[in-house]
Amino acid sequence: MKRAFFSFVLLAFAASAVLGSGWKRIRVAVPDAAAAQRVSDCSLGLYSDFVTLGTTDLILGPGQEGELLRLMLPWVVVSELPDPKDWASRYGGGAEDDYRTQYLRYDQIIAQYEVWRTQNPTRVSRQQIGTSIQGRPIWAYLLHGPRPPQIRVLPTLPSTIKVILTAGVHAREWISPPVQMYIFEQLLERSKVDYEYAVLSYRTYLYVVPVQNPDGYEYTWTNNRYWRKNRRNNGNGTYGVDVNRNYAKGWGGQGSSGNTGADTYRGTAPFSEPEAVAVRDLAIAVGNARGFVDYHSYGELVLYPWGYTTASAPDSGWLHTVGLAYRNAMTASGGHTYTLGQTSTTLYVASGVSNDWLYDQFRTAAYAVELRGTDFVLPTSQILPTCEENWAGFDAWLRSIL
Ligand SMILES: [Zn+2]
Repeated sequence: MKRAFFSFVLLAFAASAVLGSGWKRIRVAVPDAAAAQRVSDCSLGLYSDFVTLGTTDLILGPGQEGELLRLMLPWVVVSELPDPKDWASRYGGGAEDDYRTQYLRYDQIIAQYEVWRTQNPTRVSRQQIGTSIQGRPIWAYLLHGPRPPQIRVLPTLPSTIKVILTAGVHAREWISPPVQMYIFEQLLERSKVDYEYAVLSYRTYLYVVPVQNPDGYEYTWTNNRYWRKNRRNNGNGTYGVDVNRNYAKGWGGQGSSGNTGADTYRGTAPFSEPEAVAVRDLAIAVGNARGFVDYHSYGELVLYPWGYTTASAPDSGWLHTVGLAYRNAMTASGGHTYTLGQTSTTLYVASGVSNDWLYDQFRTAAYAVELRGTDFVLPTSQILPTCEENWAGFDAWLRSIL
């Protein structure tokens, strides 16, 4: 025992000599489920969006070498990371606030939706669906209509569906809100000039949640660019719950953690967090949403239920086919080719995620899309191409579920 402890100390000493004092992106080998759960439970930040069998990237902050060694897994340093503090002052955007060319603060994002609402009062409305822990409003915007003139003469009106999109649940995934803004704007503007899109917009009630976790999102600008969770004070010196491990379906299972310091901390109970409750209540109020997409980054993936178990969902063939429409249209538009698959078997089990809950409740075609790149710090030059390929994906996906 004494010898084991002694070698551990030596290892820790060697590791701190290798690692130095700055922030690092570390890649750990994750050979099996037991290792994956240790990674999920550890107090190092996740760099990857999901713990993934094979390898997972972690964030090593100053003084965290011991935590890395306790994982007892092989690791390599991928890169040095910039200090995540005060990102806004060092990397803050210019004077313009065009979401397609630069990342925006929470208030700027809502201001852009307000422009669309003000200019299209009969087609765009909004509702506050919740309040974050720090008191910020959580908004949902609805886009619908208009009724194209020719539809009036049809003997029976075509059926309508309801679709929900969410973005910004993980605070640091800055590409997610602009992708959703682009989809919203494309459907709005195209339906004014193109009959086909007018019909599409008339047949769709499109609900979007611009930023589901505004406290965390603002915190990534003001304090820590690498922050993932909300800003719940856990009462023991740690902060934050992973809102996308807080939904009820499979809550508490593998790929989430009871460690309050972990980046996959699931919270004290299903729907303990107002940011998850807001989307739950929106989904219940909307009722029977036909489609749902939760936008994340990074990894270029289109993921469908289940996440909480490796068993197939009852409609897994249909979920795969609908997902294929999204994925293939992105490729056909000249965008990147994303990987399509069931969350748990493509990456690793993740419990308490939003698309599992939507699918379980309403048999919704429910997806999590991991956006472009190999890093959640995505250059601003990648915003527009990521938006364009996902508009193409969304367009085909929407038609496939009408
Ligand atoms: Zn995410």
